[in-house]
Amino acid sequence: MIPITAVDVRDAESLVVEVLRSGTLAQGPMVARFEDAFARAAGTAHAVAVNSGSAALTATLRALGLGPGDEVITSPFTFVATLNAILATGATVRFADITREDFAVDPDAVAAEITPDTRAILPVHLYGQTADLGKLAPLAEEHELYLVEDAAQAVGATFAGRPAGSFGVGCFSLYATKNVTTGEGGVITTDDAELADRLRVLRNQGMRTRYSYEVPGHNYRMSELHAAVGIPQLDKLDELIAARRRNARQLSVGLAGTPGLAVPAELPGREHVWHQYSVLIGPHAMLARDELVAELAARGIGTGVYYPKLVFDHDCFREHPQIPAVSRQDFPVALKVTEEVLSLPVHPGLSEADVDTIVREVREALGA
Ligand SMILES: *Cc1c(COP(=O)(O)O)cnc(C)c1O
Repeated sequence: MIPITAVDVRDAESLVVEVLRSGTLAQGPMVARFEDAFARAAGTAHAVAVNSGSAALTATLRALGLGPGDEVITSPFTFVATLNAILATGATVRFADITREDFAVDPDAVAAEITPDTRAILPVHLYGQTADLGKLAPLAEEHELYLVEDAAQAVGATFAGRPAGSFGVGCFSLYATKNVTTGEGGVITTDDAELADRLRVLRNQGMRTRYSYEVPGHNYRMSELHAAVGIPQLDKLDELIAARRRNARQLSVGLAGTPGLAVPAELPGREHVWHQYSVLIGPHAMLARDELVAELAARGIGTGVYYPKLVFDHDCFREHPQIPAVSRQDFPVALKVTEEVLSLPVHPGLSEADVDTIVREVREALGA
């Protein structure tokens, strides 16, 4: 079986052992070292490590002062953490449809959702390619809105040569399957020293000096062990990205012209880091998307459907007081993508022969 994701963190062994021998397990010098390396990768002055991508989003929205009565515009086609983070602040969620080209919010649709209560735009850089920051950043500026980037899947991606997470406030995840992983973890990137300071205080129970509390905070801290797992991956981030890009190119060349299948695009000016390689299986394909999932599993190819439903389309979010009435049909592009999207393995653990196998099995399954 060729798995949809594979993790190789063996080269973290010596740093992890160093932490074990040090006896300092909670946030300390290894976390600081991880933050320095991450800030360099993201091209920002500051990086604040936390214990999940969800915590990164929640802490950021809290540090920006968002709360009840404020509105945040985001994508209906995302992992549920994006939505949960907004809900946790008490703010109201508005959704803007996506484009089929980048799977991220359409800037025109975002503009149409702006009201006098809007405080932030929260685009999601899905699958490792940024949203259209060339339009979203100026839109946020024009309306004096915060730009919070859900860059959970996009560490190292760039737009016009600038890294994801350096346009607004960047929120990254280090979850087990993400391109850089610490098992569980997250990072916030910003050039704003004052915001970084507020985040550092918030992450440590609102405490600046021992047992003196500035704000009601939380425990969002990362452990030394987690930081140790992440550091070697940041050291070789270029290599890890290059491997994903190589695999994606091989997939796109091999799958081109497969009937009913559309390969994903790397849009001009954007460098994709291929967290997922997501094709669209159109209505004229020989197999429907879900049939293809089963067929590929039988042929030894692991796949993933990210995501089979719009993020709000679950009973727990219906008639939610912070989610003004929405219906699936309000987001026709995203809705169609939930029915057609399929992610194929693209991770750095694949050999050239593995990618050939994936291409061959997908083509055969679709009658090419
Ligand atoms: C993974 C992910 C998150 C949440 O990160 P966790 O570390 O799992 O809390 C948020 N948004 C997106 C788009 C993600 O893929």
